[in-house]
Amino acid sequence: MRIRCQYCRLNLAEEHFYLGKKQLTSICDICQTRGLLIGNFANLQSLGLAMARQWVYLGLPDNFNQEQLIALTLTKAERKSCNSLIDSFDVLPGSWQDQSLRFQFYQHVIKWQNQPDTVKLTGNFPIDLENLGCDTTAIFDKNNLDYTTRLYIREKYHYVCQYCGRYGDSIDHKDPVSLSDDNSLDNLTLSCHECNKLKGSMPYQQFVQWNNEILATLNKLRRYQQTIERLTQRQKKLQSQLAVARHLASSEQAANLQPLRRQIKVLQGLLDGENSDYQKLIQIRHDYIISHYVTWQLEQEED
Ligand SMILES: [Zn+2]
Ligand SMILES: [Zn+2]
Repeated sequence: MRIRCQYCRLNLAEEHFYLGKKQLTSICDICQTRGLLIGNFANLQSLGLAMARQWVYLGLPDNFNQEQLIALTLTKAERKSCNSLIDSFDVLPGSWQDQSLRFQFYQHVIKWQNQPDTVKLTGNFPIDLENLGCDTTAIFDKNNLDYTTRLYIREKYHYVCQYCGRYGDSIDHKDPVSLSDDNSLDNLTLSCHECNKLKGSMPYQQFVQWNNEILATLNKLRRYQQTIERLTQRQKKLQSQLAVARHLASSEQAANLQPLRRQIKVLQGLLDGENSDYQKLIQIRHDYIISHYVTWQLEQEED
């Protein structure tokens, strides 16, 4: 059940109005944190729910003239984005248990609500938390790479590998786990499987340096991946067209099936070519970085 807060006008989960011991309040807990008094506000929704459950309602009665109550003047869009920010926080594991974390979060929400112009909420939860100045390390457990941390890293970097710019969803330790146990957010970044594997136990600084020496190759890799993705999508579309056409056709030899089959074959040829060039380029980059790493290791041993 969701209730609209009489003061901030957000449409929040009823937990925000629950005071324990079967008591519901007129304003949300965020507005209570703001220092407002429950007894100064009326809330017909909250009152109605309390009556239906035979709970206690705390606030002004229903015959109170709502027009006289003051309320926060957020625009509809601002309310919507703030609402989704709070919803995202509510579903974090443990967010209802850790009261001090919740209290800190509310302080930032209140600060934003008082001056919504200062920070533009993007709808990307981790980014918004950061922009609001929340302690994201406290919010996303730093000692344990749990689901929320992974999600946080992925969303923060928009599923883009930070080494090559292709799609990525692997959480990468900048300082490899073999060298340190650093699970802090500063040491975590996002990479694709390929970069993750390639970097392996190389030190971060060196890997980035060698990788940046071949930016042109990285650009080409990105383009290959985009082209292959595009061709694959087009082929899938043609294949489903062919499936429909076959279903409707009188026989497998029907005239309208041939052009589709030809197009699919041509696309397959293109895809094979692109894939083979792509794999070769991946190998070239791999060899370049590995050879530098081997040389670097030998130098380290000499020192
Ligand atoms: Zn409120
Ligand atoms: Zn990558």
